Amino acid sequence: MLSWFAERKRDLPWRRTRDAYRIWLSEIMLQQTRVAAVVPYYEKFLKTFPNVRVLARAGTDRVLANWAGLGYYSRARNLQRAAKEIVSRHAGNFPREYEAALALPGIGRYTAAAVLSIAYDEPHAVLDGNVARVLARIGAVRGDLRAPAMWRKLEATAQESLDRTAPGDWNQAVMELGATVCTPKSPRCTECPVEKWCHARALGIAEKLPVARKKRATVEVTLAAAVLLDPRGRTLLVRQLDGDGALFSRLWQFPALETTGSDAGAALAGHLREKFRVAGKSKLTPLTTARHAVTFRNIRLEPYLVRVARLPRVTGARIVALAQIRRLPISNATQKIADAAIGR
Ligand code: SF4
Repeated sequence: MLSWFAERKRDLPWRRTRDAYRIWLSEIMLQQTRVAAVVPYYEKFLKTFPNVRVLARAGTDRVLANWAGLGYYSRARNLQRAAKEIVSRHAGNFPREYEAALALPGIGRYTAAAVLSIAYDEPHAVLDGNVARVLARIGAVRGDLRAPAMWRKLEATAQESLDRTAPGDWNQAVMELGATVCTPKSPRCTECPVEKWCHARALGIAEKLPVARKKRATVEVTLAAAVLLDPRGRTLLVRQLDGDGALFSRLWQFPALETTGSDAGAALAGHLREKFRVAGKSKLTPLTTARHAVTFRNIRLEPYLVRVARLPRVTGARIVALAQIRRLPISNATQKIADAAIGR
């Protein structure tokens, strides 16, 4: 595995360093996000926040603006909270002890094991989806890998098989094997360095493992959003979205309403009247709708342009030029809405 990894590993920016901050950042960005999508964000983020002290000192808005487009913004907020703790409690060094790493915001068992093994060669095995699939196939393990008891067994297997002379490379080798050879569909067993030890291969069931999990059903929702526009081309952005915590929380967004009803425009008009004292459905001009998917939610964005003589004064809201909202931390969905209003 180690010699295969040395020869075949992809050249990725976070593989050219042993700096714990950089490795930690890459692991956080790679959660739920593809490698190709992460690379440009990783490089840009490091130019702005080259070390943990700079990140700890930065304004949260600036951190979120540099994360904008990657999604799952709680990762960025936790990253900065953890940076502050690392500076205040660990003299600016990512802790070497597993329990101390685990106590940091946003760091779970996988991330703690990954950073400590790769940066410090501490003997902690990682277990993520790729590793679990490889282990399940080698051992011809049937059943739902994400079931808690099964996951614990796999963690124990991963820890037993860890090469303690090179834990960081070993962990990366198993993950790399899962990402590039032992792929979910059509594993390339003839190119695999562990083919002769693989039970699933011997039994001819590699493609059937692991058994598929039941997918969570997709929920369809409509997000009706109002682009209020004054004669100077300025608009109003707010921070929280009623009835929606995780999706856009703490990012700047247009006044909006999540609805499953058929007349989203009427619901939005009621919301604007009540919360912003902007009156009348007749003032709402529908814009081009767009689609936005977040985990199990399939969101239909239904934007409306609302021209007003004067933007309402609302506590905690911001008034900005519509063409310049990208300067603030906003989600891709908010950008799509702005593009519809600008006519891009
Ligand atoms: Fe995966 Fe095939 Fe290698 Fe087994 S032999 S670990 S199924 S790629």
